[in-house]
Amino acid sequence: MLYESTRGRSRPVSASEAIKLGIAPDGGLFVPERVVVSAPDEIERMSQLDYRQRAALVLSRFLTDFDQAELIQSVNGAYNQDKFTVPEIAPVRSVSGDMHFLELWHGPTCAFKDMALQILPHLLMRAVAKTGETAEIVILVATSGDTGKAALEGFRDVSGTRIIVFFPAEGVSEMQRLQMVTQEGGNVHVIAVRGNFDDTQSGVKAIFADPSVNAALHRHGRRFSSANSINWGRLVPQVAYYFSAYLDLRERGALGPGQAVNFVVPTGNFGNILAAFYARRMGLPVNRLICAANRNNVLTDFIRTGTYDRNRTFYRTVSPSMDILISSNLERLLFEMTGRDAARVDAWMSALRENGRYQVDPATREQVSRLFWSDFADEEETMDEIRSTWQDHRYLIDPHTAVGKAVLDKYKAATGDNTPAVVVSTASPFKFNQAVARVLLGAPETKNKTEFELLEALAAGTGLEIPPGLRGLDGKPVRHRMVVDKEQMQQAVLDILS
Ligand SMILES: *Cc1c(COP(=O)(O)O)cnc(C)c1O
Repeated sequence: MLYESTRGRSRPVSASEAIKLGIAPDGGLFVPERVVVSAPDEIERMSQLDYRQRAALVLSRFLTDFDQAELIQSVNGAYNQDKFTVPEIAPVRSVSGDMHFLELWHGPTCAFKDMALQILPHLLMRAVAKTGETAEIVILVATSGDTGKAALEGFRDVSGTRIIVFFPAEGVSEMQRLQMVTQEGGNVHVIAVRGNFDDTQSGVKAIFADPSVNAALHRHGRRFSSANSINWGRLVPQVAYYFSAYLDLRERGALGPGQAVNFVVPTGNFGNILAAFYARRMGLPVNRLICAANRNNVLTDFIRTGTYDRNRTFYRTVSPSMDILISSNLERLLFEMTGRDAARVDAWMSALRENGRYQVDPATREQVSRLFWSDFADEEETMDEIRSTWQDHRYLIDPHTAVGKAVLDKYKAATGDNTPAVVVSTASPFKFNQAVARVLLGAPETKNKTEFELLEALAAGTGLEIPPGLRGLDGKPVRHRMVVDKEQMQQAVLDILS
């Protein structure tokens, strides 16, 4: 199976080429050229498999030029107990008969990005070998906080690669910042950008698209690739956990045969929820996909009105990994929802670039709203949700997951739909210790405490264990201090590589 660009001006390529390139040469995103379907009996058969085997099976349906042994080696290298703190890898916690949380943060960096970024280096290095590539791969990353660290952990000291991560200087939590600026490894570079995530992501996309930078790289025997969710190799491992969650619920009797489930996904760049869309398309019994936004609710407005408009105030929130106004992966959904009409998608993306907005036609809007539902939670609702979920269920959630839970409550109230729901839990509450500690322990208890004192206080107050990846940061030296303006990002890359 080949992959084509959402903008229709690049030739179709194999899965390994799509992963190696990251983004299509015409600036579009690679999507599978046909719908991949799993028969119901195949889904049932996956029941007996463990997480690694389930993931290998899902991957094999999309990455058709990888053989079984390569996929098995990749999943074994990624999803094991050196990297993840629980044997189930992606466990589902049920807090009531019809409400569940899919915990995706038991990997080394305590957020769901590990689910894809632990395996991406394995897939990418095999893709490089398969395509006969001899250049050194330079991974350029823009992060709203979690991708950066997860990509650094995944690619550190992977031979034949270098990784450069840009993060918004004022846009990440203190824990996220510490995780990145203390990163060890001989092939890693971490740079703060004066601006927000959208500035950072636009800067990285511009570097990818710049012919002179690419030519300079080429002369030095290097080529760019991406570890952001614009890379298909980032998205496809995420499809697997939706299958796994469904199968786990079936197994424990929380879902009857053929009974569908709703997934609620705290959304920023639309990558995670898009993986749920592909899982549904493959035949997984999913009813509604609920897109949960924070105060930066550009996606909620789009799903409700069909107009995408980024011309609005950008807010910094307690869920910084969702502080995004340009959701890259929506482009893939639009391609699928228009019956793969690259010309229309291309026109909307140009309008977005030029005017910051576009409006889809009524048919496309109708298609989107049949599958997706969206609402948002403001800061107070998010904090209240952390508190009430702890009080009602003795279950601690981070601010991103709290946005999801709050939006699920709104969904149920608005629609009366009582389909069993899985809230996708995207980060460990310890990773966002400041906000969580403030809610649980009160402002006086948390004032003037260091990040590590807050972790201890949170652990003492809840009886939960501090994840090793966060505890271990205490006392680590800062290794990366570079700060640049967004206009200087390109020069910074050239300096590093020369
Ligand atoms: C990245 C991230 C999100 C948003 O996911 P997208 O795939 O960008 O929609 C939500 N929560 C956390 C904790 C994240 O790190």
